[in-house]
Amino acid sequence: LRTQVGIVGAGPAGLVLGVMLLRAGIDVRIVERLPREAVLTRARAGLLEDRVVRFLHEHGLAGRLAKEAVRHGRCDFLCLGRRLRFDYAERAGGAHHWVYPQQELVRDLVELLEAEGRAPYFGQPASAVVDTTGRRPRVECADLVLECDVVVGADGWHGVSRRALPADVRDGVWQRYPHDWLTVLAEVDRPVECVLYAIHERGFAAMVPRTEHLARLYLQVPGDEDPARWPEERIREQARLRLAAAGSGLPRITAFRPADALRMRSAVVSAPRHGRLFLAGDAAHILTPCGAKGMNLAVADAADLADSLVRQFLDGDPVPLAGYPERRLHEAWRAQEFSDGLLRLLHLPHADPADGRPAPADPASRFEAQLRLERIRRLVEPGPAGTAFAHGYVGSPAWLPA
Ligand code: FAD
Repeated sequence: LRTQVGIVGAGPAGLVLGVMLLRAGIDVRIVERLPREAVLTRARAGLLEDRVVRFLHEHGLAGRLAKEAVRHGRCDFLCLGRRLRFDYAERAGGAHHWVYPQQELVRDLVELLEAEGRAPYFGQPASAVVDTTGRRPRVECADLVLECDVVVGADGWHGVSRRALPADVRDGVWQRYPHDWLTVLAEVDRPVECVLYAIHERGFAAMVPRTEHLARLYLQVPGDEDPARWPEERIREQARLRLAAAGSGLPRITAFRPADALRMRSAVVSAPRHGRLFLAGDAAHILTPCGAKGMNLAVADAADLADSLVRQFLDGDPVPLAGYPERRLHEAWRAQEFSDGLLRLLHLPHADPADGRPAPADPASRFEAQLRLERIRRLVEPGPAGTAFAHGYVGSPAWLPA
């Protein structure tokens, strides 16, 4: 099958790119490993940055989002029994997050593509991206081959596109944190009023709003933990313990969906381009969920690449596309820096999730907690530290094409 742009992966990056290019009159084909229903129901991220929502609005990609997304501009830190309120939107000049589950954005984008007569090929895993430095790179699947002018790998960190990069580029720079996060969608009796971050001797915990009756719960667990070791009662007990300082602000958890363990690692490829292959989203960089950057970065990559490809294909201007790798690496590292800083703030060394036992009376651990409390105070009080944090959290004003 001949096309101008072949895209591997129908996540936020591949779908945003696909819609943008089609609307500009560029032929696009998307192949996706999973069946349609699995893609449309996969719950992952949920916090969209203001600039990303503005971009989606300006390009007519935010029809349902405009009606259903809920604005959030506050997160509370829980530390040493205190709850410190942080109105970050106020500190970031009014920029907010919008709570809109990733699977809903994905559904909207898939429906837009279907309406344009270019539904992704679902259930069609690519086995390889080949000939990336030739004139006609190809995406090879079991039942079809895409012969393209340009291939975009938007198939996540474990997809096949990254493997088509030279060995010294594809692994890039990475780090593995010593702990993981257990993640579980909790059914709640009322919405979580804001993001809650708890720093606790038993380990970090967070509760993040998703929908009126769903919240995402994160619990720090030892590295490579098996989620099977976390039955519902243990999750409930640890959530209660670590989030206790939220007091009556915590909704009642009525049920849990199956828990999963998130391996806490971060990585950025050395260059998100090789010949006529470009990488976007998680294929080019993975972040921990700390700071809610992954989906936003994926959409920002797609927006940049769409603009660059349109200028290349329609105006014959190669300059924006040539600058794509450098711009995206810069923004990926900016996001990594924020996410890593927040993660280090929120995790105490030697946190011990032991059940039932009282928290350790370890003076070093207490000292660390006291330092975190002071850092958080510095964030929430008026001053440059909080303002810088607020801007980083809600999204840097980095370049995103209008
Ligand atoms: P993906 O969404 O991973 O899409 C890649 C697609 O490629 C998938 O559909 C996959 O099936 C497909 N694919 C893979 N291999 C192949 C192949 N060989 N052939 C064809 N298709 C293939 N980010 C935030 O911004 N905020 C958050 O709050 C947040 N919370 C998260 C919570 C969880 C539990 C998880 C797991 C992630 C979270 N993230 C968050 C990260 C966010 O979900 C990702 O960064 C985002 O999905 C990246 O989008 P993408 O399009 O690059 O990749």
